Amino acid sequence: MRLLLVEDEAPLREQLALQLQRNGYAVDSAADGREALYLIQEYNYDLAVIDLGLPIVDGLTVIRKARELQKRFPILVLTARGRWQDKVEGLEAGGDDYVVKPFQIEEVIARLNALLRRTSGFASPLLAFESLVIDTAKQEVTVVGTPVELTAFEYKALLYLTHRHGQVVSKTELTEHLYDQDFDRDSNVIEVFIGRLRKKLDPEHTLNPIATVRGRGYRFELKSLGDA
Ligand code: CA
Repeated sequence: MRLLLVEDEAPLREQLALQLQRNGYAVDSAADGREALYLIQEYNYDLAVIDLGLPIVDGLTVIRKARELQKRFPILVLTARGRWQDKVEGLEAGGDDYVVKPFQIEEVIARLNALLRRTSGFASPLLAFESLVIDTAKQEVTVVGTPVELTAFEYKALLYLTHRHGQVVSKTELTEHLYDQDFDRDSNVIEVFIGRLRKKLDPEHTLNPIATVRGRGYRFELKSLGDA
């Protein structure tokens, strides 16, 4: 999942970016509102973390403009302690949830995961697609009840494909939503990688979770069962 992080305090921004990356997000960072708006117009994000007190263009304006631009990704608002008005304004501007500073990083991660799974149509952290179940709280995958060992990157890719289940995801889109901006993109890498992921999820070829749509990309085929 590709995430936009907007925070002007450099140490906090860097620490957050690092932790979010460790939790499987491809992170783009912006230090002020103008840079954030540029990135929002330029790239497709799956979600964003936006501080309200920002230089040049403030956070509320960034959120409003993003919504005016029809950007629908979930937004987690960061607010300063004691400013209840910030929380209300942040939500009314188009934010989906907020965290008050100072916060524990675990709370930010948990709230982001919750926002994402709601976007995918799930209320609980267990995402069930026929016999394939993803536990997003533990980052574990089972197929017919048997755990599947995935690398962190394979897990990220699977999560993105299921997030867009039933829809075609091109190699470019997959790359954009999984890698950080400066990654050197190579579509062969994706092909090999998807092949390996398929083998792990479906060694007997009975499930066929990921279809190749010739010339267009991949599609996650299993049906969502709603909450597991
Ligand atoms: Ca700030």
